Amino acid sequence: MKVCKFGGSSLANATQLNKVIDIVLSDPARRIVVVSAPGKRHSGDTKVTDLLIDLAETAIKGENTDRQYGAVVERYAEMAGELRLGEEIVREIEMDIMDRLAQVATLDNAEFMDLIKAAGEDNNAKLVAEAFRARGKKARYASPKDTGMVLQGEFGDATLDPSSYATLSRAFSNFEGIVVYPGFFGYTKEGKVATFPRGGSDITGSILAAAVCADVYENFTDVDSVYPVDPRIVPEVKDGEGIPTMTYREMRELAYAGFGVFNDDAVIPAVRARIPINIRNTNHPSEPGTMIQQSRRVIPGTVVGIASMDGFCNIVVEKYLLNRQIGFGRRLLQVLENEKIPFEHMPSGVDSLCVVLKGQHLPKERERRVVQLLKKELDPDFVAVERDITILMVVGEGMCYTAGMFAKACLALASAGISMSMVNQGSSEVSFMIAIRHADRDQAVRALYKAFFG
Ligand code: ASP
Repeated sequence: MKVCKFGGSSLANATQLNKVIDIVLSDPARRIVVVSAPGKRHSGDTKVTDLLIDLAETAIKGENTDRQYGAVVERYAEMAGELRLGEEIVREIEMDIMDRLAQVATLDNAEFMDLIKAAGEDNNAKLVAEAFRARGKKARYASPKDTGMVLQGEFGDATLDPSSYATLSRAFSNFEGIVVYPGFFGYTKEGKVATFPRGGSDITGSILAAAVCADVYENFTDVDSVYPVDPRIVPEVKDGEGIPTMTYREMRELAYAGFGVFNDDAVIPAVRARIPINIRNTNHPSEPGTMIQQSRRVIPGTVVGIASMDGFCNIVVEKYLLNRQIGFGRRLLQVLENEKIPFEHMPSGVDSLCVVLKGQHLPKERERRVVQLLKKELDPDFVAVERDITILMVVGEGMCYTAGMFAKACLALASAGISMSMVNQGSSEVSFMIAIRHADRDQAVRALYKAFFG
């Protein structure tokens, strides 16, 4: 059995929705279909979820909601009309949104916001199920409430109550036809609607894939496969092949380093249950896409992708005989912890320590304070903050078995005249990182791409 999730761009209008139905019907194993709310139809368009947020905010302010309500209903009415689904489904959706809006007086703001946001996926699942039936196929909408998708934590940032796996698994143990399931939300133990963070339909798909022990979790989006490097920096990568398979570890490293196709948080349930994840394109369903799984056949000396992340900064601390001081590193990190600043990496020299952070955690106005605290706490010979750092990341399980991979990267960068300010390799050897100046990023990525894939 396959669980397939379709994102908003795959469900933005009737043409896209018909593609979704064709894809599902082309493989009888595709039994559970998780849907997002309708996304953008064109670049200037607004996603239904964003329309709903506007609607909820307007209602909370006590202002007239006719325009926002009309804009939401119009999106569903347009699709229902193009698909000739009849008036009833549109009435049902109108009533549903009205009912939700009426609860503005009884719910607190965060609860009300989630109730309205969830309308996007919930009504879309009903409409998609209707569209399957209009094509003569047996399909039904399944509700997160009836199937036991219990969430906990903050409204708008909820997580799954782990006991839900057993309930969900039972709910899906015996069903016929195709089930269309709304992504993005579930219910608290008290019966209130709660949503995952934005983009959360991926989480729903991943949870269901784990709960039913699916053979594969197919995540349909609008790219053919994952490219080994950002095509905006190296356009010619599109002439070659995408990545056919990668491991969960490789996916995690690339996602960390800015490969936006994955949402590494969202796929945790599927990864833990060892369900293979297939990223595919709704617009080119014959393309096999990228398969992400526990292990793969690795050719020694190969890498799977090259990523770059901008916006880092580096706190450099130097002190003569630093290596003999017990507790120096701990005290440095304690200052950051007290200031609630997370750090990413911590490479060190004999008499120096660097702490690499995401720049947004150390805005200019906090920098002065942190530097003062470090001076007070550590009495260093030198402390400074470097900004505008880009981290390059070369990723591949194949690096574990081969000497000279790092040398190859250094040579490529040296030939391009690019200097490295920091290097870091974890003991897993599945990736290494190189920090450079942001201004050198594009040239550096191209040089590495040529060296490893050219
Ligand atoms: N519709 C929600 C959002 O736009 C969830 C999703 O599409 O995954 O964030």
